[in-house]
Amino acid sequence: MDSSSNKRSSIIYLLLFASIIILVMYNFQQQTANSEALTLGEIAAQIRAGEISKITINEDDLVVVYPDGREATSQKEHTSTFVEQLKELGVTTEELNPENITIEIKAPSAWFGVLNVLGYVLPFVMMAGLLWFVFRQARGGGNAAMSFGQSKARKIEGDNPSVTFADVAGVPEAKEGLYEIVEFLKEPEKFMALGARIPKGVLLMGSPGTGKTLLAKAVSGEAGVPFYTISGSEFVEMFVGVGASRVRDLFNRAKKDSPCIVFVDEIDAVGRQRGAGLGGSHDEREQTLNQILVEMDGFDTDTNVIVVAATNRPDVLDPALLRPGRFDRRVILDRPDIRGREGILNIHVKGKPLASDVDLKRLAQATPGFVGADIENMVNEAAIKAAREEKTAIEQEDFEESIERVIAGPERKSRLISENEKKILAYHEAGHAITTRALPDADHVHKISIISRGMAGGYTLILPEKDHMLVSRNKLLADIIGLLGGRAAEELIFNDITTGASNDLERATQLARKMVTRLGMSDELGPMVYGKKDELIFLGREISEQRDYSESVAEKIDAEIKRLMTTSYQNATDILKKYKDELNSLAKKLLEQETISKEELDEIFPVPIAKTAGVPVVNNA
Ligand code: ADP
Ligand code: MG
Ligand code: ZN
Repeated sequence: MDSSSNKRSSIIYLLLFASIIILVMYNFQQQTANSEALTLGEIAAQIRAGEISKITINEDDLVVVYPDGREATSQKEHTSTFVEQLKELGVTTEELNPENITIEIKAPSAWFGVLNVLGYVLPFVMMAGLLWFVFRQARGGGNAAMSFGQSKARKIEGDNPSVTFADVAGVPEAKEGLYEIVEFLKEPEKFMALGARIPKGVLLMGSPGTGKTLLAKAVSGEAGVPFYTISGSEFVEMFVGVGASRVRDLFNRAKKDSPCIVFVDEIDAVGRQRGAGLGGSHDEREQTLNQILVEMDGFDTDTNVIVVAATNRPDVLDPALLRPGRFDRRVILDRPDIRGREGILNIHVKGKPLASDVDLKRLAQATPGFVGADIENMVNEAAIKAAREEKTAIEQEDFEESIERVIAGPERKSRLISENEKKILAYHEAGHAITTRALPDADHVHKISIISRGMAGGYTLILPEKDHMLVSRNKLLADIIGLLGGRAAEELIFNDITTGASNDLERATQLARKMVTRLGMSDELGPMVYGKKDELIFLGREISEQRDYSESVAEKIDAEIKRLMTTSYQNATDILKKYKDELNSLAKKLLEQETISKEELDEIFPVPIAKTAGVPVVNNA
């Protein structure tokens, strides 16, 4: 903005200056024209009569001086010299004798030369200026045209860190994951001495407002290193290639300042999956993304620049970003659970006077689904409300009312989970967990949460103990049963079902279809592959599927998939009926604390019994 208005005023100055010069020149000529003017013939006559004592010639301008000091002006013709012209008018050489008359020839003044040149050059300058001005207006880019190619990265000095890990609460796992990065930045020598490769990129993933930006700043604050930040959406601005040169500029500055952090906010704006020639792709984004990758690959092992990127759409990121040596560290920021929300509340009420009736624990309970930004907003609303009512301290009632204001606010409408929804979510997730735990072939449950992550209402984190090279039919069936466990629990307990299982059903159906058509795991259809797939092998994406079987086989496939699904659902229900006590206590605990760790689950539902005894899976036949 600044430089744009500067440019505008300098153009105005230029125009002003030009018009002043033109005025001056005009005046100058007017003046010369005003004094007594003679014709050449009159001058010749006066010379012959010996009336003139001196004539000064300046280019074509003549100044005639009489013995009494009087002056007159005249003009000679441009084509020949003054003396030649006089002779043509009949003046003799004798009459021009220096004894009779002094003829002085002046070199044109330097100032006059400059004016002359300006007269030629100015119009061009003004034309160019005008063109440039119009062009820039057309671009509509403010000062963009002037500063393109230069990174807009803002540097925040790390010498006086304003944010530390103490300012971030409710994301213990994320903090733990980042602590290592802090150590790297603090003492890079320690790690380099042992030949360890410093991580180049960390990707922070989480819903908006969960504290990604805050946490990135906290890392630089903790480590006491400079922090460069730029937003992905800023790259996608103008000419193709500008984003790339900005990236280059940013990294050059950062490298000189290492160890430091480069924070790329909203990286999904540039890091979306690049097309494989399908549909349109955005050149600018691709070039910017490529440049980021080139810079990251180009780091020497001793470049202590760590790139931290944030996104709330990890699903759309280009796989190239996630390769080893790039953003190979991923840190997930979950929505905070009750304890987390209490911690965040504690941070944000710091320094604010609270009435004695304020109960932060109760506020935390009343705000399931809130993220850090919502809580900050809520505390602020409460303070505003209390101040407007001339209170000296914020009361519990102020907080409670501001919860509603935050929920009603834009984009926040569906954030808060109602008690009833919470209960359904708790049973749904507990259903997944119990069925998965009960099946000897299923993977292990690591964490259960009823606080939504992204679109899903809650989640049960199920991870294999080790990577499977081969997957057995029983394992696949166990996966399907586990996926259906959520819906089965809803039906068993509430005698009703919700939309919460749509993703589960989709994944379970896909698995069942795969078992039947691709893995030959159905007795009915035999060890055969049905359907031909066209894949872009190098991208690992499926493009289309071709049917190479008859209509009657298609019917059989559908029937077989349906049979697989319904028996699995029956299995899930049977398991939940058998372990109904465990289901109830797990759901109750989930309602209380919203997240449950592996260890807490072990207490409620000690697995080994089920895992060794096994629950017969009667799907196959
Ligand atoms: P994101 O980048 O994930 O969208 P921000 O980091 O910009 O979210 O968070 C916005 C504000 O919300 C922060 O400045 C901070 O005041 C508050 N906030 C968010 N998460 C937390 C947290 N985990 N602990 C404390 N404050 C938080
Ligand atoms: Mg942010
Ligand atoms: Zn589910």
